[in-house]
Amino acid sequence: RSGFVTLIGRPNVGKSTLMNRMIGQKIAITSNKPQTTRNRIQTVYTDERGQIIFLDTPGIHKAKNKLGEYMVSVAERTLREVDLILWLVEPTTFIGAGERHIAEQLKNVKTPVFLVINKIDTVAKAEILTFIDAYKEIADFAEIIPVSALKGENTDELLESMFRYL
Ligand code: GDP
Ligand code: MG
Repeated sequence: RSGFVTLIGRPNVGKSTLMNRMIGQKIAITSNKPQTTRNRIQTVYTDERGQIIFLDTPGIHKAKNKLGEYMVSVAERTLREVDLILWLVEPTTFIGAGERHIAEQLKNVKTPVFLVINKIDTVAKAEILTFIDAYKEIADFAEIIPVSALKGENTDELLESMFRYL
């Protein structure tokens, strides 16, 4: 199996940590180029199950100028062209305008979306459930997967689920 995946979410939710955790000791090619406006391959993950090509998506936000509009158009195209979208969130941040905007964008694409709730080591289980309910009201998710990227909790299960959609 092989396919394209993009990881979206606010700064600091743990995107880099999760990427590093999933890739672990496996062969990975990571680009260190600064953020460009072009769609590009960030990392390639390979194991016995197949290959996952992670694509960088420029931030999904409301455009304030021409460059912003272009970045947003690249982001929207990426969402449409990948096989799977991972929307990473942290349970300490409540749904705000940014999340609602992402949810609106996702309504326009058919790509399956995983809600990946990171940093579950920082909150009680009951809180996570409340959090999940709130997200279910703003978007449709193919899977909802709680993880701790830092501790490596449930990250193998996440990879396993990802391969099922590629
Ligand atoms: P990014 O901006 O989305 O790429 O987020 P980073 O990967 O840089 O992580 C932001 C901060 O959150 C760092 O201090 C990480 O160590 C921390 N962090 C990431 N994942 C977890 C987690 O699962 N649990 C906890 N407690 N902290 C985490
Ligand atoms: Mg990062």
